[in-house]
Amino acid sequence: MNPMYDPLTVAVETGTLVTRGDERKYYRFRAARFYGGIGTADCVGCCLRCIFCWAWDKVNDPAGSGTFYGADEVARRIIAICRNRKLHRARLSGNEPTLSRTHLISLLRLLPQDIMFILETNGILLGHDRGYAQELAAFPHLHVRVSIKGCNESEFSQLTGADPAAFGLQLKALEHLGEAGVSCHPAVMVSFSDHRAVDSLRERLRGIGAGFSDFEAEEAFMNPAIERRLAKRGLLPR
Ligand code: SF4
Repeated sequence: MNPMYDPLTVAVETGTLVTRGDERKYYRFRAARFYGGIGTADCVGCCLRCIFCWAWDKVNDPAGSGTFYGADEVARRIIAICRNRKLHRARLSGNEPTLSRTHLISLLRLLPQDIMFILETNGILLGHDRGYAQELAAFPHLHVRVSIKGCNESEFSQLTGADPAAFGLQLKALEHLGEAGVSCHPAVMVSFSDHRAVDSLRERLRGIGAGFSDFEAEEAFMNPAIERRLAKRGLLPR
């Protein structure tokens, strides 16, 4: 991949590989411990290439990873996990759920209101298209967690290898979601940022929405493969 790729182009290219009509590729269904217990479907395909990504193999091989599932089957599996484990939260995780828009909207329609659905996204597509955020506003049982990669354009590009201008799309996503009245919050990968960068982002987020300045700080979890990638790019967690 071009070292300075455009995430929107990658979203289109990858979307065609992991979407087939109403179907989307997934590689795992599970109950996870996060959020006090949550039914989780891990999808395949992302428009970023974060150096600290735990699903690196899936992100880099969307054509060779996962299996196609229709929205009805994904809903059936998520609901079964939640009912069997007495969980009241569900999410799509693993890679980037927003790549397959039709599938995601179909899935949201199929999930019952007593299960809070948490959409974990890098925000790129929601920042690009205000209409996408507005479409999500139809679902009161939805909360969106926008995971921001680094504290500014330069850190974003270092961590993802993407065009630095795309950092702004992640902030735009919060703006669009806020305008549309969708429940949401920012999470920020701060492992590679100093205090000044964190404070500066806090101010930018405050300008978008008062509540956004109190963001969730995300720390990178290491494994040997991630450490090797970081060393290759001369990056170290602070
Ligand atoms: S946005 Fe998430 S899934 Fe995509 S590369 Fe980054 S960490 Fe991995």
